[in-house]
Amino acid sequence: MLRYGLIKGRPKTAADRQARVTEILRGLDKMYPDVTCALTHRNPWELLVATILSAQCTDKRVNEVTPGLFKKYPTPTDFAAVKPEVLAQDIRSTGFFNNKSKSIVGAAKRVTTEFGGEVPRTMDELLTVPGAARKTANVVLGTAYGIAAGVVVDTHVTRVSRRLDLTKQSDPVKIERDLQKIIPEKKWILFSHQIIHHGRALCVARNPKCVACLIEPICYAKDKTWSSTEK
Ligand code: SF4
Repeated sequence: MLRYGLIKGRPKTAADRQARVTEILRGLDKMYPDVTCALTHRNPWELLVATILSAQCTDKRVNEVTPGLFKKYPTPTDFAAVKPEVLAQDIRSTGFFNNKSKSIVGAAKRVTTEFGGEVPRTMDELLTVPGAARKTANVVLGTAYGIAAGVVVDTHVTRVSRRLDLTKQSDPVKIERDLQKIIPEKKWILFSHQIIHHGRALCVARNPKCVACLIEPICYAKDKTWSSTEK
């Protein structure tokens, strides 16, 4: 049951701040009860490749490219054997294809030589895989393995978390640290998906659709486009 309006304005105490976070989480659950990663994949390796491809590219475009890509290169061993300049042509339409192909071939080599062909299951190991920085590692661990190692911080999570005053930071590592402190660990995976979804659906970069946002009454973002609480 939602209890919007319980925390009016900016919370002043730590208890109020946490109560407001709880309200935000309730609102997200109500708006996006079972969202998940929009990148189509059949296993952790495919999700890793799709996530690398999704940098500066829409999930829709990635999903158009990956079925043919995984048909051509079914396993990490197949990717490890291809020359990056050849792979670059296969993924051209996702943009930044030279860098992405180097990352993917590098990741395939690392996964096959060091991890027996399986994407590793820990943050520390994943961070040694080319192309897998914290954001990518959190996506793979959370979505493919159900392991809550952290919170995914992408452009949407950055913007929405700042608007909701869940962080004042702009560096992704610091934002993640702030979110980990206030979001219960058991919600990290779902929260990441919900905020990304919210950033795409309503809390868009320009002219957020606040009139349709269930957490609007407890949002005091400066660039809100509508308010139910103003006199
Ligand atoms: S009220 Fe507007 S700015 Fe605040 S979270 Fe909702 S959509 Fe974003």
